[in-house]
Amino acid sequence: MFNGIKGWFGWLAINQQCVLCHQLSKALVCPYCFADLPRFNMQNEAQNLLCNPKILRELKVINFDRLFAMSEYQWPYSYLLSGLKFNRKVVFAQALSELFCHLELAHTDLPKALVPIPLHPSRMASRKYNQASIIGKNIAKHYCLKFLPQTLQRVVNSQAQTRLNSAQRMKNAQGIFTMAHELDVDHIAIFDDVITTGATVGAAVDAIRAQFPDIKIDVWALCITPERR
Ligand SMILES: [Zn+2]
Repeated sequence: MFNGIKGWFGWLAINQQCVLCHQLSKALVCPYCFADLPRFNMQNEAQNLLCNPKILRELKVINFDRLFAMSEYQWPYSYLLSGLKFNRKVVFAQALSELFCHLELAHTDLPKALVPIPLHPSRMASRKYNQASIIGKNIAKHYCLKFLPQTLQRVVNSQAQTRLNSAQRMKNAQGIFTMAHELDVDHIAIFDDVITTGATVGAAVDAIRAQFPDIKIDVWALCITPERR
């Protein structure tokens, strides 16, 4: 059936399962599931979701220059992210990275480095990995950006933002980051998995701009989720 050992390994390489529908697929998300993905049309948004009034209404902090994300937070992104964060399905990080990179950003005026939002050391110790850092590293490699996971340090182990309203999120995020390493570029992207009010990435922007007031900062995220009211 197979042409020797080489044929066997070739069969294995192209016959993994789609992480969403489980049919055999060369890609982690098969072409059928990929075609069915909800996503923003970044061409309509001029490659900047800050041009989208609905998203502007959701954000409570806008202290950065541009915003890029794949979609509103919904299935299958919610399934993949919760599986990665809470069930240690690390293959989902690769799937999410590939989805983000498939939605090609225009290769003009790209940032020169990508800075992931860090976890607090105590949360890192319990979870063992930072999903934003794993996915961010893959994305930085795809776009040939420097990957700078040490730039920001989370110095306050703030309460998880999920159950807070927007005012609580703003207060909860104040001063949670400091800069731990210098930057030698004039344009970066801060990367986080999901953005709600912008309070967390806004605190990261504040920490960086306190030392580099003229730096251009884009925010890249997998998803944007409407605030719970
Ligand atoms: Zn599929």
